[in-house]
Amino acid sequence: MAARPTRTNSKKKQPPKYIFVVGGVMSGLGKGIATSSIGRILKSKGFTVTALKIDPYINVDAGTMNPTEHGEVFVLDDGYETDQDMGNYERFLGETISSVNYMTTGRVYQEIIRRERNLEYKGKNVEVVPHVPLEVIRRIKEAQKQSKADVTLIEVGGTIGEYQNIIFLEAARMLKHEAPNDVAVVMLSYVPIPNNIGEMKTKPTQYASRELNSAGLQADVILARAIVPIDEKRKEKIATFCNVLPERVISAPDVESIYDVPLNYEKDGLGDILTEVLGLPTRKSKLDDWKEFVQKSKRSKKEVEIAVVGKYFDSGSFTLSDVYISVLEAVKTAGYHLGLKPKLVYLNSKDFESGKLSYSELSKYAGVLVPGGFGETGIEGIIGTIEYVRKHKIPYFGLCYGMQLMVIEYARHVAKLKDANTAEINPSAKHVVIDVMLDQKDKLIKADYGGTMRLGTYPCKLRSNTVARAAYGKDKINERHRHRYEVNNAYVAKLTESGLVFSGMSPDHKLCEIAELPKEVHPFMLGTQFHPEFLSRPLTPHPLFTAFLQAASKKK
Ligand code: GLN
Repeated sequence: MAARPTRTNSKKKQPPKYIFVVGGVMSGLGKGIATSSIGRILKSKGFTVTALKIDPYINVDAGTMNPTEHGEVFVLDDGYETDQDMGNYERFLGETISSVNYMTTGRVYQEIIRRERNLEYKGKNVEVVPHVPLEVIRRIKEAQKQSKADVTLIEVGGTIGEYQNIIFLEAARMLKHEAPNDVAVVMLSYVPIPNNIGEMKTKPTQYASRELNSAGLQADVILARAIVPIDEKRKEKIATFCNVLPERVISAPDVESIYDVPLNYEKDGLGDILTEVLGLPTRKSKLDDWKEFVQKSKRSKKEVEIAVVGKYFDSGSFTLSDVYISVLEAVKTAGYHLGLKPKLVYLNSKDFESGKLSYSELSKYAGVLVPGGFGETGIEGIIGTIEYVRKHKIPYFGLCYGMQLMVIEYARHVAKLKDANTAEINPSAKHVVIDVMLDQKDKLIKADYGGTMRLGTYPCKLRSNTVARAAYGKDKINERHRHRYEVNNAYVAKLTESGLVFSGMSPDHKLCEIAELPKEVHPFMLGTQFHPEFLSRPLTPHPLFTAFLQAASKKK
């Protein structure tokens, strides 16, 4: 077993430190939340922290993956389309993260091939080893440099032992070889309790540890994921057979909410253990604000039921809510700050179309939210939903497609533009009230799909005396986008005459960014062309989610 390093003088400038978070036994244990939680703890100790995610896919980014396969596509400020874990990092760390912090196998190879074509390897053989791990390390260091992080967290996607991530473990090994005192490895592993035995089994974790060793790495800390806290006996066993100090085997039981995780880790002193491993100065963790938020969330008792009507829910006989994870978190956290306990119910819009669900069901809910989406399936069910909630004055919040469909519904039923539609579904409709953006047309013709939408942060000006302006409390905002279509300006006058208010516009007045109904007409009916969910954070919920939940809590 390695001896404990001695503590260092807190005044001395430290070299950058790196923590790799890897997964043992199986996927789906919450590596993203573990990474985010470690980040939160270290940040609370006064260290600057950033986090990277490595996804083993060949896809260059997450933008082209089907949400039902991959989950939410999280868009960064700079427009990069990434994995939902990047959202967890931003939410837990309260930091804005850059695109260099996200890499896939595809992106790494794309860069290596670009350089090879440009003769940047100066005629050398370019090989998987060492050039791939070197490119991974280059990106990790670049992310560290950009954020000036004292501690850089790197989450390695997939599970130890998979072919796909071996090369990333090799990068970790090489970085550790280069700076042995500045790299720590945390393994999140599963400790099952098989029903028929009723006892916690550590063997799978032992195998995972051995597999990690065969990649030339040794875990410094093991997070033992199980349904209950790990007992002393298993802790000792894991320590002995996985070669770690017993106090560095941290209990990671199932918890009520993901926001409990940092506090739970701190019960076992994870923050101090990591600073000790990395030779960083000992500092107290200051998680009071986080604790207060968690307590608030537990005190919130008044339930508000929100129906999320979407189209990406079905995966075999399972319902996927991962697809809208940022929306979910934004609703929940905004609710907690209002003393509410939001309960989200997922309704598949296709069920309204088939008659399996009737629109009158919607009356049961305090509010209805339609998140972003693409394509034709399930759309008439969403438009029917919007018509129902408009007429029955049920608070409505539409995000991106949810805003575009709100405009279509209004055009069809109030402005009497009978076959109003979006060019995405029917470009030859008589009234294309949602049209393809000018600079997008060419991309669609050339099938140039990857990373080419209107992506990332753009400014927006709010109109005075509107619901949006009141919610934000300021005139100019910045929000993140991901779309190809927009409100067709040829219809703005007609829709405005019919009572729809465009309360947010791009500063050059060319793009409608927010549509709403006046509060005299409807308790809350608002749609945004952007995705406010990407900027909502647990300690600072997004004002539009807050306004929506306020309205929902008042519904009779
Ligand atoms: N499909 C719509 C568009 O491309 C909406 C996209 C979204 O909801 N993110 O404009």
